[in-house]
Amino acid sequence: MPTKPLPFTPEQAESWTGQHPTPFHVYAEQPMRENARALKAAFSWNPGFHEFFAVKAAPNPYLLKILAAEGFGADCSSMTELLLAERCGVTGENIMFTSNDTPADEFRKARQLGAVINLDDITHLPFIEREAGLPELLCFRYNPGPLKSGNAIIGHPEQAKYGLTREQLFDAYRAAKAKGVKRFGIHTMVASNELNPAYFVETAELLFKLVGDISREAGITFEFANIGGGIGIPYRPEQKPVDLAAVGNGIRAGYDKLIGRAGLAPLKVFMECGRMVTGPYGFLLSRVLHIKRTYKNFAGLDACMANLMRPALYGAYHHITVLGKNAADGTGTYDVTGSLCENNDKFAIDRELPALAPGDLVAIHDAGAHGHAMGFNYNGKLRSAEYLLRPDGELLPIRRAETPEDLFATLDFGKLAAFRP
Ligand SMILES: *Cc1c(COP(=O)(O)O)cnc(C)c1O
Repeated sequence: MPTKPLPFTPEQAESWTGQHPTPFHVYAEQPMRENARALKAAFSWNPGFHEFFAVKAAPNPYLLKILAAEGFGADCSSMTELLLAERCGVTGENIMFTSNDTPADEFRKARQLGAVINLDDITHLPFIEREAGLPELLCFRYNPGPLKSGNAIIGHPEQAKYGLTREQLFDAYRAAKAKGVKRFGIHTMVASNELNPAYFVETAELLFKLVGDISREAGITFEFANIGGGIGIPYRPEQKPVDLAAVGNGIRAGYDKLIGRAGLAPLKVFMECGRMVTGPYGFLLSRVLHIKRTYKNFAGLDACMANLMRPALYGAYHHITVLGKNAADGTGTYDVTGSLCENNDKFAIDRELPALAPGDLVAIHDAGAHGHAMGFNYNGKLRSAEYLLRPDGELLPIRRAETPEDLFATLDFGKLAAFRP
């Protein structure tokens, strides 16, 4: 039975549950910081390199502050993500505002914060000018369409709602320049959960070539190329993490050829990774409530899709470790379920695990990105607490669990009392 390591012991986890009821998410700070440093080190050849953590992956202010302390900015795409970055002291050009179908008030907020604004469409240029005023620095998102084959999660770029076509980009930069925009960046994001380093090198080279073409055509100078996020993580035990040094070195070679030798340097390389920054360092801890044997074996947990919906949403694999048990104690094949009235509320299907019993504590791996963040309240399910495992072993609460009062906070029961149906 394949295994994946955990940054805590079964005894530690058991001791936490004495004070903190399951289910809950726990994030390990030390390895998260080490990975952040490895990403920066891979791009140390580029003095302007900057990673903007995609807030949507794990919108917890403690995590944002840790990442800001490691030198990361924030990639935001909504009003509340902007507000959260602001509350964490991440402002100005430490924010990349990469949104789509953007409301005017979000552009105004991004302008007020001095964020780098990345426009998703050519019509957003007159829109932002009218609604929020033009910033001095502007970026456009490129959609390469059929010029680049997509990966599994993003699909084919020409089907994607994001970004401008190549032809539109030239017009957009010319128009922005004519309107008085002084500083320019370019962005693309065509991958999600991609494990092949070559994919990121290709994406960077695509942008570097475009920087050359647009610079010449539109007579502008680019400050940065943002190659987006999309670095995958090894959800399955047999997979390996992306070799960040290979990504950095590969992009460096493309930079030297297409930017350095073309006289376009310096160009800052930006990234906006989310998944790889927090994903592998978050764990969902949950207890087995019931073992049910019908046509299959079902292990029912006290967690459900409200805590982690990737398996139900995409059939995603999340490794499960049964704490304190191993295959030598006997094994079984289980559907590991939650309690929603939805049959896809399963964390694993036909998974071979150590033989389970009610009361067993399990850790669901790689829940640190799009885990708690995707939580929802269907069936009146409440989202769990989040904890931070500090480098010294302290378990710090960083978000309390929701209560029924939270769920009912948008209802006015006073007015309801007066309502006569
Ligand atoms: C989701 C997203 C990211 C982060 O993607 P990951 O796959 O988590 O690295 C970055 N930029 C944009 C615009 C996104 O939508």
